[in-house]
Amino acid sequence: MADLSAQLIQWAKEYYLLDSPTVCDQRYDRAFRELQELEKQFPEFINHNSPTQRVGGGRLSSFGEIRHATPMLSLNNALDMDELNKFVVGTSEHEWVAEPKIDGLALSLYYVDGKLAYAATRGDGQVGEDVTHNAKTIQSIPIQLEGPMIPNRLEVRGEVFMRKSTLDRLNKQGGSDRKFANCRNAAAGTMRQLDSAKAMRRPLDFFAYSIAECSGLPKSIKTSPAAEYHYSALKFLKQIGFQVNEYSQVLTSKDMESYCEKLASVRDSLDYLVDGIVFKVNSLFSQAELGFVSRAPRWAIAYKFPSDTRETTLTAVDFQIGSSGVLCPVARLSPIAIGGVTVSNATLHNMEEIERLGLAIGDTVVVSRAADVIPKVSSVSARPENRTPILMPSVCPSCSSPVARMEGQVAYRCTGGSSCPAQAVALIKRFARRDIMDIDGLGERLVEQLYEADFIRRPSDLYYLCYHAVAELPGMGKKSAEKLKKGIQASRETTLDKVLAAQNIREVGRSACRELAKHFHNDLDAILAATQEQLLEVELFGPVMAELAYEAFRDPELIKEISRLRYGGMQWPEGSQPVPSSESTLSGEVWVLTGTFDSMTRSEAEARLAAKGCRVASSVSKNVTTLCAGAKAGSKLAKAEKLGVKVVDEGYLLSVLEA
Ligand code: NAD
Repeated sequence: MADLSAQLIQWAKEYYLLDSPTVCDQRYDRAFRELQELEKQFPEFINHNSPTQRVGGGRLSSFGEIRHATPMLSLNNALDMDELNKFVVGTSEHEWVAEPKIDGLALSLYYVDGKLAYAATRGDGQVGEDVTHNAKTIQSIPIQLEGPMIPNRLEVRGEVFMRKSTLDRLNKQGGSDRKFANCRNAAAGTMRQLDSAKAMRRPLDFFAYSIAECSGLPKSIKTSPAAEYHYSALKFLKQIGFQVNEYSQVLTSKDMESYCEKLASVRDSLDYLVDGIVFKVNSLFSQAELGFVSRAPRWAIAYKFPSDTRETTLTAVDFQIGSSGVLCPVARLSPIAIGGVTVSNATLHNMEEIERLGLAIGDTVVVSRAADVIPKVSSVSARPENRTPILMPSVCPSCSSPVARMEGQVAYRCTGGSSCPAQAVALIKRFARRDIMDIDGLGERLVEQLYEADFIRRPSDLYYLCYHAVAELPGMGKKSAEKLKKGIQASRETTLDKVLAAQNIREVGRSACRELAKHFHNDLDAILAATQEQLLEVELFGPVMAELAYEAFRDPELIKEISRLRYGGMQWPEGSQPVPSSESTLSGEVWVLTGTFDSMTRSEAEARLAAKGCRVASSVSKNVTTLCAGAKAGSKLAKAEKLGVKVVDEGYLLSVLEA
């Protein structure tokens, strides 16, 4: 939960504050949902900083602050019709207002005696950024309200957006401004300009969609237009000079689906981005009764259109080689922007997928980013005459060894084994991965560089590096070499399951390796000597896994590699329940580690604590006896303090481990 939360906070910062998202919305929404589900299951671990408990991504300090009298909230999402129906049934309301959900930036406009006093972004929902100077450059935001019905105080909420035609024009013009990936980023970036002259050169637009406050109407007006129905509020906004979206309409729940279909069919022809539909309870009395949950009203829901898809041309197909030699076809595409990200590659998985799609080079393909971050070719929409068939190469593009298809399998493999450079590099990258050896300072590019320089050929070579030579590599230097040395040093203290996982045995994944180590009480010799029948007794192991593991353990290369790792200083606790020495026993204690430590990695600390007979848990609960907090400790520390769990620092940890 903490990881998901940290990831979402980072993405939200990139999206809301920097206006340059690095993942698509669907990916963000999925992670958000996952966190919500976990929070439902484990409410005791909900952190008040969790993105599910707050709105937006904060504020930039370069702007003045404006506190919202009524918080500006987010909306709960329905990702399909089922979710929409469930929500509607839950509220048992009859009359709704449907409005296109404009993909821009929420803005609050405050009018005093009909004059625009200030404009604020949503910010964190409570306090927004003062962007009055930029709001005044937007033609569709009235500076002075007109007509006989002007209240003393009026707060209007709506969406600032950039028209698609404006974005096209700006991107074509080029100039010194960066190109915007989509209208939302362009609108958010423009609204956050400190210099309003710059904002003026990038014309924005505004649709008003609600009234947050309306008081002090002329005496001749008996009921405030914003008192009874949301739809009357929209009509009133139009009368006093605001632009209200023409597709806004009153409907009953049975008409929602057809409204969604209608809007989906006109969506592409509109000159602004619509990413869904907002359904709001029409009666303002019911709205007040239904109220809010932490970050969203209970009386509204945003139905999100299924993810974006775009058409482009398949220009080539390359074959990438994985750590076990499998050749994976990768589509090279004419670059297109989907959901704010430029896409030029997509995975094609295997040859069966290519056959299923009936794909050839030159085809016009439909690319989506729906189910995964990795873009996907979902269908072929046009096949030109001069298309080139996609063929599996007969030899490996990296080492020229023959490519072979294993019997009964979809995958084609390079038969070069560890002598294939691409395979070796992929294997070393895998070895350094977070869930295996977690080598800090060893990025993918550095693996490639070390390989190209002939310093490494297999993972164990990492433990015999000459750091003087590493420091001499282009772009490296002493500091980076030192960092790498520290990272590699830290990885020497490990656990047997990770050593096994590092061997990349086919079908025997991370969890299977954990079971293997557990079953054989961390006794490597027993594992290597186990018969197939004995391997079959291991949890998670079936006949295929047992056979593949048995064969792998007879491979002299694997035995040599493990020996080289050991000689290189790699060590792991042996035996099932290490017998703790009587004066330093921690048996019966449950520890949680959080933050980073100077003297060792977390996994090293875990292993050493386990060797002292204590259990190391991953989250704080009342069963935890001690929380050890390193640098940058976050939510776990707060939780431990709340539950009154004993909190110790790295110094204490060292004294216990060294006792
Ligand atoms: P939201 O966009 O799901 O809904 C709330 C917003 O809808 C309001 O603030 C308002 O600006 C807007 N809106 C448009 N038309 C409206 C109308 N007619 N009535 C009322 N509101 C209307 O919520 P959010 O909290 O702004 O953003 C969350 C969404 O942003 C996520 O679901 C995700 O898709 C996206 N996001 C993406 C990333 C990323 O990295 N890609 C990061 C953070 C958020």
